[in-house]
Amino acid sequence: MDSHSPSSVIIVGAGVSGISAAKVLAENGIHDLLILEASDRIGGRIRKETFGGVSVELGAGWIAGVGGKESNPVWELAAKSGLRTFFSDYSNARYNIYDRSGKIFPSGIATDSYQKAVDSAIQNLRNQEAESVGDHSSTSKVTEPPSTPIELAIDFILHDFEMAEVEPISTFTEFGEREYLVADARGYEYLLYKMAEEFLHTSEGRILDNRLKLNQVVRGIQQSRSGVRVVTEDGRFYEANYVVLSVSIGVLQSDFISFNPPLPRWKSEAITKCEVMVYTKIFLQFPYKFWPGCPEKEFFIYAHDRRGYYTFWQHMESAYPGSNILVVTLTNGESKRVEAQPDTDTLREAMVVLRDMFGPDIPDAIDILVPRWWNNRFQRGSYSNYPIISDPQVFYDIKAPVGRIFFTGEHTSERFNGYVHGAYLAGIDTSRAVLEEMRKEKETEDGSQTQLQEPLLALTESLTMSQSDTVSNLHKCDIPTQLYLGGKRGITEAIL
Ligand SMILES: Cc1cc2nc3c(=O)[nH]c(=O)nc-3n(C[C@H](O)[C@H](O)[C@H](O)COP(=O)(O)OP(=O)(O)OC[C@H]3O[C@@H](n4cnc5c(N)ncnc54)[C@H](O)[C@@H]3O)c2cc1C
Repeated sequence: MDSHSPSSVIIVGAGVSGISAAKVLAENGIHDLLILEASDRIGGRIRKETFGGVSVELGAGWIAGVGGKESNPVWELAAKSGLRTFFSDYSNARYNIYDRSGKIFPSGIATDSYQKAVDSAIQNLRNQEAESVGDHSSTSKVTEPPSTPIELAIDFILHDFEMAEVEPISTFTEFGEREYLVADARGYEYLLYKMAEEFLHTSEGRILDNRLKLNQVVRGIQQSRSGVRVVTEDGRFYEANYVVLSVSIGVLQSDFISFNPPLPRWKSEAITKCEVMVYTKIFLQFPYKFWPGCPEKEFFIYAHDRRGYYTFWQHMESAYPGSNILVVTLTNGESKRVEAQPDTDTLREAMVVLRDMFGPDIPDAIDILVPRWWNNRFQRGSYSNYPIISDPQVFYDIKAPVGRIFFTGEHTSERFNGYVHGAYLAGIDTSRAVLEEMRKEKETEDGSQTQLQEPLLALTESLTMSQSDTVSNLHKCDIPTQLYLGGKRGITEAIL
């Protein structure tokens, strides 16, 4: 076992929430912090890769929620860093719906099917709302489930993407309805490097600060009344007063990290109640472009009788003209299925779909990139998905600290879960909660020190011991329990 001198706070995970949490701590004078990241890079679900000669985003690709009454903080960071972005106009997608014989559905049929799907989704929501308050009477109407390929395709778009038309989503109501695609050689992750630069030592875009430890896979978190010990896969351990745990909800559900004492029941039950969405963008590169490359055709839809089967497509001509790249998005069951098969099978399936839409003569793709967010043991999915009608207590319990362990990440953002800005703001929130806890602990400590010091001084004088030794020894072994009433439930309740 290797050990390190204790820190004030250990942050587990260097995604956007972990980095924003660490930055707030550093800005508030907590410099003895440590960031432990399992992978060999920072960024987490913000991740670029070079594909077909350009930089593509395997994880977060859009800055969602721009142009509204409030400014999206991630949009502000992007503007400050001069990140290259492109406005995405999804509104045309519904008029670019292909059937299996390559015909585009007439706009009247598309509009009617779209309206029907929206109405049915709204009715479903009403039904769920009524059910959740025990009202089984008037409002409940049976809605026809989508059945035709076009209905299934629209249902997929409405439910597996953002359903702005169906429910008010805080991101769009607060920050605006526009979305901008990041298309920058430095990647979306450049924002994280810029953030890290403000409190970690960097040189020529590389982080050289030994408070960031990469390839440190956390497997255990032990807490006692006096602090927290974090144990890694390679047998090291790190100690601190507090831990900020920023791993995804999927990792929390997978029991990859063991807790000693175990997490209390209210916490583990809440963790299991949050859904994990798998969302996969598959990139395909072609020798030349055979699809209409104009902006009104940037997004197009394939209607198949299997829901979510290579449904949602995007060309990258606006962002990277001449790159000859198409992106198709799969979710949940289809994502997991594709992750489990060789990429050559996926390529073959995608080509059949494309030939349905564009005819038999189109060329084969020359390259494919299939990210595997579900099988990545440091992710186990793409983002959290709270049921639309859900008990708010579930969310509060997921976010609530357990003693000295504080939770952060997109899944702890009440209004913006699932988004980069949600993760960013959650990191700030959690660090503020930790700072407040530290302040309270210090206050209690100072109070008890004054109470303890007077009799102690008398004792030390008589025994000719040094005052500082005695005080610090007392602190190590005889700490009043109320010092540790941290967080929502307090450490004693959490541990016992
Ligand atoms: C495919 C996809 C598309 C998306 N599209 C968008 C979009 O367009 N717009 C948008 O706003 N959002 C999008 N998101 C969501 C967005 O990426 C996330 O909400 C956000 O990046 C999450 O940040 P985080 O800090 O909460 O978590 P993460 O980025 O997951 O950070 C957690 C970190 O913890 C590390 N870790 C995990 N386990 C351990 C361990 N045991 N020990 C140490 N470290 C560990 C991980 O490696 C990771 O670096 C998308 C996500 C995906 C996957």
